[in-house]
Amino acid sequence: MDFSTTTLTDLRDGMRAGSVSSVQATQAMLDQIAAVDGDIKSYITVSGEIALQQAAVADQRRADGDDTPLLGVPIAVKDIIAVDGVQMTAGSKILEGFVPPYDAFVVQKLKEAGAVIIGKTNTDEFAMGSSTENSAYFTTRNPHDLSRVPGGSSGGSAAAVAGGMAFGSLGSDTGGSVRQPASFCGVVGLRPTYGRVSRWGVTAFASSLDQVGTFGRTVADTTAVFQTIAGYDRRDSTSLNRPVPNYEAALTGNIKGLRVGVPAEYFVEGMDEEVETAVRTAIAHLEKLGAERVEISLPHTRYALPVYYLIAPAEASANLARYDGIRYGPRRKGENMIDAVKKTRALFGDEVKRRIMLGTYALSAGYYDAYYGRALKARTLIKNDFLTAFEQVDVIATPTAPTTAFKIGAKTDDPLGMYLADVFTLSLNLSASCGLSVPCGTDSDGLPIGLQLIGNTLQEATILNAAYAYEQSLL
Ligand code: GLN
Repeated sequence: MDFSTTTLTDLRDGMRAGSVSSVQATQAMLDQIAAVDGDIKSYITVSGEIALQQAAVADQRRADGDDTPLLGVPIAVKDIIAVDGVQMTAGSKILEGFVPPYDAFVVQKLKEAGAVIIGKTNTDEFAMGSSTENSAYFTTRNPHDLSRVPGGSSGGSAAAVAGGMAFGSLGSDTGGSVRQPASFCGVVGLRPTYGRVSRWGVTAFASSLDQVGTFGRTVADTTAVFQTIAGYDRRDSTSLNRPVPNYEAALTGNIKGLRVGVPAEYFVEGMDEEVETAVRTAIAHLEKLGAERVEISLPHTRYALPVYYLIAPAEASANLARYDGIRYGPRRKGENMIDAVKKTRALFGDEVKRRIMLGTYALSAGYYDAYYGRALKARTLIKNDFLTAFEQVDVIATPTAPTTAFKIGAKTDDPLGMYLADVFTLSLNLSASCGLSVPCGTDSDGLPIGLQLIGNTLQEATILNAAYAYEQSLL
């Protein structure tokens, strides 16, 4: 079996048929990591020994007649998600050496499904960024062009899948951190509806926006991982207690009559022409498959970026208050307690400090109503735009990002420019929608372009099937 082109579903079929074992597949991933990850740098921690043990257990379970959904499938996990006994840094020096004593809910689910956890992938510090350049450890490189970023913040998870170093992976998406790197790396990335997946054991960034998402080389692969982690968890108070549909069975490829909304506000001047052309071509392709195209408007789109950059830092400033060197990670000595906390918190990187300052300012007495309060009101308008649109359409189609992967270093001195990388993804996080990115071609440099499909609350099956129909018709 050529593991560099094998999909998760192929591997699953192969293991069921007995033509390949989990130990072989896991060893192939570790070999690929040894061969290419010195350049790509998608993993912060590779837990090879544990992975091979899990693989051997999975093979034994299969020999005993077990066929749980991800039995023996090697999966990578973003390093803001807790895996019992494996270092979790969140891409930050402030958590260096921190070993969580428990599994996040999503990791419990993966393990129950029989998955093998290969390792922890690189991320912008506390998931704040769009390129992995804010990781305190190193920058991940795009497997399609090593001089370019893989996107972020879940860039390590996207690059691991694109580089043949995992059959699927977990990321998190607060403003685009699954969809944007999926787009840059030419893989599929799903951001489920807020509450669909439990965040228990996931490092909090902005709690009203954070959601765990999945990556795969294909729509079916992405769906298989999502199927495993979706569901209610009483330990996350925002978790939705709703039945989990059979998403994999929903991939019929039939989209006849599907109403696809195309919002005028997402095709703006200044965006990359090749991206626009590819996305418009993909939408025309959906029409050929039987979908009906509807021109729509999401009139408050232009407020999404400023609203996000008030709400996300405000929530981050509160969530990050817990890193004081007393409960987690390294502790710096000081003359007294305040001094020690100050010295410990100096371990945060520049972007994290910037967010904490922006957030505390927006929440401070005298400015709260002017900034945070107004942002919440504007958020309602953005959310209502989507609700109104979904009265007319089933799916909204847009570009995932305004450009393809940019050069490493191109935006590191330009925080606003970096923030704009998420201009098409973050309005979804402010609403109650779900979304995904599916590859829809390449630009003249051979860099992948992503089509974003947005669905109404809990309509993951609809967008996954639309993406599946599109993907299958290209084969
Ligand atoms: N790039 C956005 C930010 O920096 C989104 C990050 C994310 O989704 N985690 O906040």
